[in-house]
Amino acid sequence: MPDSTTIGTPAAALQPSKPAAPYTPAPGSHHPVAVVGGGQAGLSVSYCLRERGIGHVVLESHRIGHEWRTRRWDTFCLVTPNWQCRLPGHPYRGDDPDGFMVRDEIVRYLEEYAARFQPPVAEGVTVTRLRHGAHGPYELRTTAGEFTADQVVVATGPYHRPAVPRLAERLPAAVHQLHSSEYRNPHDLPEGAVLVVGTGQSGCQIAEDLHLAGREVHLAVGSAPRVARAYRGRDCVAWLDAMGHYEKTVDSFPDSDAVRMRANHYVTGRDGGRDIDLRAFARDGMRLYGRLTGVDGSSLAFADDLAEHLDHADAVAESIKDSIDAHIDAFGIDAPTEPRYTPVWQPAPPGTPASPHTALDLGSAGISTVVWATGFTRDHRWIEVPVFDGRGYPMHRRGITSRPGLYFIGLPWQHTWGSGRFEAVGRDAAFLAGHIDASRRVADVCGALTGAPTALSAALPVG
Ligand SMILES: Cc1cc2nc3c(=O)[nH]c(=O)nc-3n(C[C@H](O)[C@H](O)[C@H](O)COP(=O)(O)OP(=O)(O)OC[C@H]3O[C@@H](n4cnc5c(N)ncnc54)[C@H](O)[C@@H]3O)c2cc1C
Repeated sequence: MPDSTTIGTPAAALQPSKPAAPYTPAPGSHHPVAVVGGGQAGLSVSYCLRERGIGHVVLESHRIGHEWRTRRWDTFCLVTPNWQCRLPGHPYRGDDPDGFMVRDEIVRYLEEYAARFQPPVAEGVTVTRLRHGAHGPYELRTTAGEFTADQVVVATGPYHRPAVPRLAERLPAAVHQLHSSEYRNPHDLPEGAVLVVGTGQSGCQIAEDLHLAGREVHLAVGSAPRVARAYRGRDCVAWLDAMGHYEKTVDSFPDSDAVRMRANHYVTGRDGGRDIDLRAFARDGMRLYGRLTGVDGSSLAFADDLAEHLDHADAVAESIKDSIDAHIDAFGIDAPTEPRYTPVWQPAPPGTPASPHTALDLGSAGISTVVWATGFTRDHRWIEVPVFDGRGYPMHRRGITSRPGLYFIGLPWQHTWGSGRFEAVGRDAAFLAGHIDASRRVADVCGALTGAPTALSAALPVG
């Protein structure tokens, strides 16, 4: 275990000297808290538990920072500015707060965090089953043996399995296919044109990466919205922060479920940050299509909705500018004015006979590769505790489930916009650590009165 003298020491006072020391929990050992997952969410919880002096273990399948290290492309960088990286006790301290860390810097940022406070992370340990009987502690079966814990925090991230539509099975065998999480760089792909399916953040950025490398790119455009990088002299993220957008809680929306499921706005932090304008890509030679609807041999069919999707993305970006204008007016802020966006390219209108945006023949277009930027699905099947809804989404309020002692962290919009991001995962971690601490204290008091602390710790919810 890490030296107990570090408990409660602000991380800022600790030196990033050596990497986090390897930690191996004794097989069969019991822990007050088990944290599953050693990404930014698991590390943040660990930091907050440490500050409260609560014993715990972090079980991580691979290595700290695994997702950033292995599932992002070579030119990947954050879309959120560095100043939003504010893990508990470890705010971004570099010299480019308004910039966007690249992949290797993000990994380093997490490694430094772990080096500073030496969390009890057991790397290379996968939790394969989590159970909880009516009485007694949680039981964790892992690749390093069985453990028990009074309380468990699931910090395994929201993006578990690549979601590839089954249409993919119908593509000709000669076409190379990969998911966005497997894409690294243009040079790794076979020669020829590339079709990217999906225009969430990954799809747009990968399409741009290929386009900038001179590859011929075809892009199936979905319904994701976009946001301008900057407006009236500031990054839009800075404006939205000043406007209190990131303080809005999910339950302040009429349909919190819909908020949690909606696609992120596309924009990029590449080369210091800029807009992603798919119309500009098209003007410069990228071929755009609507949503992919069918595959028949090498013939692909797309919905006639490209114009609708481009208009929608622009309308959202402009409506964000409207709210920034309103904020500037309301507070009498001295900000430069800026002309609004004018579309730089128009697709053929919907319904145009033989629309170039609804059909594509892979062979004639020389397409050798399809990149599926179609997102991820959750996989919590290893959790054998009945806390899920019909879609397999964990039912919770601010990460607290109906089963006392079981928590989630790092889910998109778990509490606010920043819950699934660097921006606010630390706030959620502090909240959960406070709740875990309170539950523990109540259980201790009741245990002292009844002599049955463990069973009570599982039975007494503290809100
Ligand atoms: C393409 C992309 C771009 C993003 N860009 C940004 C951005 O610009 N800014 C931003 O703030 N956020 C961004 N995010 C969102 C978010 O910051 C990341 O998804 C981040 O990785 C989430 O951190 P996490 O700790 O919650 O989960 P993860 O990083 O996914 O970590 C979970 C960890 O749990 C481990 N694990 C999983 N299952 C088990 C198990 N059963 N047993 C033990 N260990 C297990 C995994 O190995 C992993 O290390 C982006 C996400 C993606 C996918």
